[in-house]
Amino acid sequence: MEDSCIFCKIARGELNTRFIFESDELVAIRDINPQAPTHILIIPREHIARIDQLTDSNSELAGRMVLAANAIAKQENISKNGYRLVFNCGPDGGQEVDHIHLHLFGGRKMTWPPG
Ligand code: 5GP
Ligand code: ZN
Repeated sequence: MEDSCIFCKIARGELNTRFIFESDELVAIRDINPQAPTHILIIPREHIARIDQLTDSNSELAGRMVLAANAIAKQENISKNGYRLVFNCGPDGGQEVDHIHLHLFGGRKMTWPPG
């Protein structure tokens, strides 16, 4: 937990952000600046700054983030047409918030290569 971290604050419920999913270890919220019709962030309650800081002890957490994204995609009706899951890591990865989060994008056809 980090006092200054926006995603820690959101996960603690301090910013009144609506959770579209929550469990004892995860919350999911709609991105404030959506890049697709559906753009959701799956965020662990635990403060881990970057995805490259995961260790073996976090492997179940990482797996459950993906499973939560799949379940939310179904709930959002984007499962059949498909969707994209993204972890940005560090400056070149485009990471702006230093608390790991999995982006779920859907509702439009994604382009490749990504920008
Ligand atoms: P990153 O670039 O770190 O992978 O993604 C951070 C994401 O968090 C961005 O898409 C940004 O729009 C989103 N974001 C940043 N601050 C907030 C916030 O206070 N609330 C919500 N819902 N999303 C946020
Ligand atoms: Zn945090």
